[in-house]
Parts: sequence; C-alpha cells; structure tokens
Amino acid sequence: MPSAINTDFHDFNYLVVDDEAFIRTLIVRILGSIGVDKENVTARESGLEAIEFLKDGGDEIINMVICDLNMPDMDGIEFLRHLALRSFSGGIVLVSGEDTRILKAAEELAQAHSLNILGALPKPLKPDDLSALLAAFEAPSAGRGPRSSAEVGIDDLAAAIAERQISVVFQPKLSTSSQTLIGVETLARWIHPEKGFVPPDVFVHLAEENNLVDELTDLVIDLAIEQGAAWLEQGLELKIAINLSVDNLNDLELTEKLEQKVSKAGLQARNIILEVTESRLMVDITKPLEILTRLRMKGYSLSIDDFGTGHSSLEQLKRIPFTELKIDRAFVDGAAQEPATRAILESSVDLARKLEMSVVAEGVERREDWDLVASLGCDLVQGYFVAKPMPGDEILAWRKDWNGIGD
Ligand code: C2E
Ligand code: CA
Ligand code: CA
Repeated sequence: MPSAINTDFHDFNYLVVDDEAFIRTLIVRILGSIGVDKENVTARESGLEAIEFLKDGGDEIINMVICDLNMPDMDGIEFLRHLALRSFSGGIVLVSGEDTRILKAAEELAQAHSLNILGALPKPLKPDDLSALLAAFEAPSAGRGPRSSAEVGIDDLAAAIAERQISVVFQPKLSTSSQTLIGVETLARWIHPEKGFVPPDVFVHLAEENNLVDELTDLVIDLAIEQGAAWLEQGLELKIAINLSVDNLNDLELTEKLEQKVSKAGLQARNIILEVTESRLMVDITKPLEILTRLRMKGYSLSIDDFGTGHSSLEQLKRIPFTELKIDRAFVDGAAQEPATRAILESSVDLARKLEMSVVAEGVERREDWDLVASLGCDLVQGYFVAKPMPGDEILAWRKDWNGIGD
C-alpha cells in the first residue's frame, strides 16, 4: 500500500495519467513548482498503461494519482473503476476540460467506489489549486487501505471455491408500488478462515484475472438455486438475481448448464434474472451476444447492472435484449439534493421506459431516496433503507416483519 509514513505531499509518489504529452509535462512542471521532486512523478499516457504500471508494483509506491477524465482508450471513469477494483487507497485528483457538472459527477462516482478522491480541478490547471488540494490530504495511515485481502492469493481463492468456503447472501428487491418483496440479489461472500472478510469486488476481480470466474459463478448459481428451491417449498416464489461477469459470457455452455440446474431444482426461467456489468470492455461482442440472446429466448431475464458507469452502456443497451435496467447507486445516492445527479437518474428512467424495460434503483439508503425514485417511476428498489443483504434462511422472517415504509 502507499507508504503510510508520508504525510507531506512533497514526499508523495505521484502517478500522472493524461493522453496529451503537453499536459503531462505541464502537470509535472506544476508539481515541481510546488516542491515535488521530478523523481517522484511517474507519467503514463493512458488508463491501460497506468493500470499496467500499478499492477507491476506501482500499487506499492503511489500515494497520489492525478488523472485526466477524457482519454481515448480507457476514459477516466473506467480508470476509476479499475482503481476501485484494485482497492487503491491513495489520493486521486481529477482534471478535465469538461464542465463542472461532469467533474462533480465523476467525483461522486469515485466516492461511491469508496475511492479517496481529493477533488476535481478544471483545466487549465492552476498550481495554487493543486497545492491547496494536496495539502489538505492526509495520507492513509497503516491499517487503512488495502487490507488483508491484498494478501489473499489465487491459490486461496481456488481452494475456497473447491471447498465451498464461498457462500451467498441475498438482498431484497421491492416493488415501489406495492412495497412488497419481489426478488432478491445474490451476493457472494468469502470469509477466509485466517484472513477474514474479503470484499467481493476483490475476489471477483481476482477470479476474472485468473480464469476462475466460471467456477466461481457455477458455485454461486448452485447456492442461489438451492435457496430458491427451499423458498419455493416454503411457498415463496421470488425472482432471484445472479451476477454474471463479462468473462462468463465466453462459455457457450452457460445456457445449458443453467437450464439443467434450474429445472432439476424445480424452478423456472422466470425465477432467474442475470445481472451483467461491463467491468471490462467487451472487445468481441459476438459470443456474449449469442449467449445473452439464447438466455433471453429461454425465458431468463437480463439486467444491465451499474447502469451509467460502464464503458458504452448505451451501445450495449441497443444490442443486447436486456429486460431490466439497474441504475448505479452513484446516481441514486444524493439525487434528492443534487440537480445534476437527479437529471441523470431521470433520464435513465425515461430511457428504460422507452425501451420497455423495468427499472431498479440500487443503493437507496434513505427515505428521501425512496420517495424520489418512486416518484420518478422506478419499478423496484434495493438498498440499505429497505434491507441489507442477509443469509437466505432469514428472508422469510424479514418478509414477515416488513411493514412497508410507513407514511
Ligand atoms: P453490485 O452487483 O452492484 O451489488 C450491489 C452492491 O451494493 C453489494 O455490495 C451490496 O451489498 C451493496 N449495497 C446494497 N445496498 C446498498 C446501499 O443502500 N448502500 C450502499 N452503499 N451499498 C449497497 P457487495 O455485496 O459488496 O458486492 C460488490 C460487488 O461485487 C457487486 O456489486 C458485484 O459487482 C460483485 N459481486 C458480488 N457477488 C458476485 C457474484 O456472485 N458474481 C459476480 N460476478 N460478481 C459479484
Ligand atoms: Ca448486481
Ligand atoms: Ca450494481
């Protein structure tokens, strides 16, 4: 992790990411003018190269990333997502020629990813603005930031999957109109016997990078379906959401495997919805498109997850027969106060309506969020305001105790 001893920004190690050579040079010069040694600054011309650098050990030394939002291959937003996946705990300064609304949204998104964002600065960058931001930043102290999970390796994960150490919890999805339980989202959990809780973002990413994601998803599907069958036996029919990684969409047998499991458990395709996120670029869309279309034809529902944060969500929306649009919590949280966030939320709902998809708002944490998303026409709500994720055998009791949101 970024060395905890550095508390003065003059001693930080910086990573500057901008596609324009001129701007990179300028930022290095501005850093120099506020007393940062050139030796402590690494510059990269794209998000991809910056991630490569972090992977190759940059993670260990970098305290501060200064990044352009508009870059051709991987834009700043996607770069932030990658930083979040790496649990980057250093500071981040965003720089952009875009108007302040976009900067503000990007800043909020970074916060939603639990990144340590110092702020967003418009171009042209001014030395005083930058040094003011940097001076206010407190370097992460030991114990915070990348966490025990940095120590879990791929062998740990492979063993955990094989030995079924991975479990699942379920978070309620409620209808805004009836305020009743309609479905649940299945979320994977891993408590390592020695190392403790490992965040799902971390181990899903680890699985993706090491070709284990099919095994992981296989296990999650088994556990979700097993629970679904138990609920059905208790008289509760729910729509169960299962997260798929883009990497799962290379397995042409996915549809058949799922069909077998579902029918063996006495469930039906309508009981399952598959949530797909664009955690990485879908370079060749042919296979994913084939798999998703076949799943849809068999009667499974498809949800486009984290809508609004991906690389080309709109394009995927056009090509893939999604039935549900799940608005990322970055555009739900705070929408009641922030006009710009609210505008994005509103137009996402509009878009879903026009495409005859149902809309889910996730990350609803407060009554005012519920009221807003309900008034905008979101069909379903998921979030801590209603319920946190819980073990499957607690869902029935939760449903019994649930009295709606009150007046
Ligand atoms: P996601 O699919 O967007 O799942 C929703 C995440 O938001 C969950 O985090 C959930 O606990 C959290 N959440 C729900 N309501 C609220 C709220 O009101 N406020 C806030 N701040 N957070 C809320 P979790 O369980 O940590 O999962 C993180 C991500 O890991 C998931 O994001 C998903 O991308 C991935 N993931 C989890 N399980 C699986 C899995 O089985 N397969 C795959 N491929 N990915 C998974
Ligand atoms: Ca999801
Ligand atoms: Ca999501």
